[in-house]
Formats: sequence, structure tokens, C-alpha cells
Amino acid sequence: MRRMTAEIPQETILEEQACMQRVRGMAGRPASYFIVTYGCQMNVHDSETLTGMLENMGLSAAADRTCADFVIFNTCCVRDNAERRALGNVTWLKELKKTNPQLRVAVCGCMIQEPGMAEQILRTYPFVDLAFGTHNLYHFPTLFEQMVLKQRRVIEVVPDDLGTVPEDLPIVRSNPYQAYITIMYGCNNFCSYCIVPSVRGRERSRDSERILREAEALYRDGVKEIMLLGQNVNSYGLDRPEGMNFPKLLAAIDEIGIERIRFMTSHPKDLSPELMDVMAGSRHICPQLHLPVQHGNNRILKSMNRRYTREIYLEKVAMLRERIKNISLSTDIIVAYPGETEQEFRDTCSLVEQVRYDSAFTFIYSPRTGTPAAKMPDQVDPETASRRIQELIAIQKRITSENFEHYIGQTHHVLVDAPSRRDIHQMSGKNEYNITVNFDGSPDMIGSILPVRITEARETTLRGTLVQA
Ligand code: SF4
Repeated sequence: MRRMTAEIPQETILEEQACMQRVRGMAGRPASYFIVTYGCQMNVHDSETLTGMLENMGLSAAADRTCADFVIFNTCCVRDNAERRALGNVTWLKELKKTNPQLRVAVCGCMIQEPGMAEQILRTYPFVDLAFGTHNLYHFPTLFEQMVLKQRRVIEVVPDDLGTVPEDLPIVRSNPYQAYITIMYGCNNFCSYCIVPSVRGRERSRDSERILREAEALYRDGVKEIMLLGQNVNSYGLDRPEGMNFPKLLAAIDEIGIERIRFMTSHPKDLSPELMDVMAGSRHICPQLHLPVQHGNNRILKSMNRRYTREIYLEKVAMLRERIKNISLSTDIIVAYPGETEQEFRDTCSLVEQVRYDSAFTFIYSPRTGTPAAKMPDQVDPETASRRIQELIAIQKRITSENFEHYIGQTHHVLVDAPSRRDIHQMSGKNEYNITVNFDGSPDMIGSILPVRITEARETTLRGTLVQA
């Protein structure tokens, strides 16, 4: 039976708010901060909450980590290399601490929730002053205060969220016209390669009224695009009594009038015809979907505990394309899952050829301790894994380039984000399909949605010219 989700008690949040005010007036507390974020959009959004709390405590953003008084690493543990990169960077700060003994270092996020990691940090990284996991992010002001007041290391890992969600925490959004809204936390799916359910807990949906109020406030603030976040947004609401499911929530958000709505991640098994209909009939939901397939072979999908078959996935893709003619699809794919044979790998390649995604995030399987797949025999050797991923990348590159050729001559609507990294006379932004488009423009266009005629397709981006009104 599902556990019903409740909000963290208001008095707990009020205590944290009072703590932020105390820290603000504290002598000798760090004056500046720098946050290093790894991983997915959920982590990026958690860092926006950390920023909100730090600013409320009176700290201001430092230009980079070398000149900050307090550096916090918000970590990811989905893949081994993300974890190693984070730990490598934490170690690098040890040197900085020798020249600046006042520097305080914190590590938080998914990695800290991994079994045994907090102990490892205590043992191996004595220069880390503060560590906390994902379930007690809201408790950060109190932990920060303890670190400063008691001049000692503070490590707090809460093993379970107890079916609660935090509300009313301050947020400083990193972008004034694009915003994230977390609609749910955690995941119940237990894909056999994935550590997320262990480190993010079970599914907990936020109250739909609160989500709608947040979206309305963003609309009033002039936000042009929102991204609804959850590990599996399609199961939104199943743990709440209101009877609001994801398609209904999406339809209600569509009514608010924000120009663009996106969402991720969608588990294919829960992608319902009702959701497809809401997307097809909406005015603001972008014709774009990230639909992680992970593999093209049924035996592997079963072993991964994905709970759909290749045929069901392809059927859903066909239904989507029937309803939303121009929909752009992207995906995640794992190669070299334990026991993957050459023929099974070929099934992934043939599925990619069949679906013809606009883009795919491809990964070599990375064993995560504590997951069933990590204990499976027949781990694929690195040489084979590397050859397979290169082959898959080459296939996807060709398909992306063929798909992008079709966009030439079309007019897309680009939410202008920043000057292009290669040429400051060019502006860069995302079109409705979530593809980067560059065009000649000026910084005063940043934050507008502008029509751009596509003239050229590059490897992963498009180029175009502004359509004059
Ligand atoms: S759906 Fe599967 S891959 Fe996605 S977060 Fe949940 S367990 Fe991990």
C-alpha cells in the first residue's frame, strides 16, 4: 500500500527560518559562498534552494570557489565518474584550505545518502566541515549554524524522508525567465541498475494547489518557460488524496498562460493516452518529450526491471506521433549492461534507427554498489563497451544530422538565453523542440521568444536568421 505524503511540519520550517536570521547576525560567519552542482536538474534546483537559504543567512555569491569563504559541493552518484569527479574536486580544496584556514567546505546531495559514504567522508576527508544528504536539505540552516558556532565538523544523514516534502523554503532562481518547479521527489521504480530510489527515497508528490500557486507567481514575474521536475512525473499524485494525476495537473498549469511548459522525466510504462491527449490539446506544452528507453532488447529491459517491452515502447512512440505530428523525441540509453550480447546491443541500434530521436544521451553501464545489476555476472569488458558506445553514438549522430536537415527552412521560436559561446555577436537559445539555435542578434534580446528561420544544421545545434516583424 502506498504511503500518503505530508508536508514537513510548519513549526520545523519556521525554526529553520528563525535560524537563518540568527546566522545573519552572527559575528565571524562565512561572508561569501560558492556552490558546485553535479548531476541532473533536480540537483540544479536543490542548489537554487541552497542559494536562497545562504542569501537569507546574509552570505553573498563569490565569483569563484578560490575566493569564497564557504564552498558547497552538491553531488550526484548516478554514475561512478560523476562521483569520482566530485570527490576529486573536494580533495582539490584541501590545498586551498592550507592557504586559507578560514575556508569551510561542505558536501551534500545524493552521494552522501549512499550507504557508508558519510563514514567515508569522516574518515578520508578530514577537511570537510559539513555533510548532509537529500532528505534533510531543509535542515541546512541549523547544520550551518552548528558548524560555525561549535567550530566542529557536522555530519547529518537522515536515512528516510518519512514520506514528507519540504515547503516554504527560500529559492534564488538562477534564470529570471526560465524556472524549475519540483512537483515530486523520489522514485518507486527500482530499475535494477539505478541508485536513485535509495538516495532520493520513495515517491512524494507536492500539493497541487501549492504547485499551481508557484506557477502563477512565476507567470506574474514574467517567467517564459517552466520545467516540471520529478524522477517519474507520470506517477505524480498517486500518493495524495486529492485525486489529481499528472495529466490533470499539466492541463491546469497550461491554463495559467506561461508561454512554454516542459517536464521530465517521463517513465515510458506510465506514459498514458490521457497525458498524450493533454499534450496534443495544450497551448503551451512544448512538442518535445524526453522518453528514456534505456535498451532495445526485451530480455535486457526485463532484467533492468523497466516494466515495458520494446513493442510497448514503440507503440507509445507511434501514438505520440499520431497525436503530436511534429513532436521531437530524445532518450537515454545504456550500453554494455551486464550480460549484453552482440545481438542484444544490435537491438538497441535498430530501435534507435526505428524511433529516429533528435538526440540521445548514451552511457556505458556503470555498476552502483547496492543495486541488483552490480551483482550480476557477465559484466561486459571495457573494450567491448567502448566499441559499442562509439557505434551507437555514430548512428545517433547520423540520425540527428538527417533530422536537423528537415528543420531547414522552418521558422522556430527561440527563447533567447545568452550570447553564443563561440561568437558574442550571435545569440543562443532553445527552440520549442529543446534544440539550441544560434542566430545574429544582440544581448537586449535575452529573455524574449523570437521567430528564427532555420538556415543551417550543425552537429548538435541549428543556425538561423531572425524573422523581422
Ligand atoms: S525510473 Fe528507474 S532509472 Fe529513473 S530514477 Fe527511478 S529507478 Fe532510476
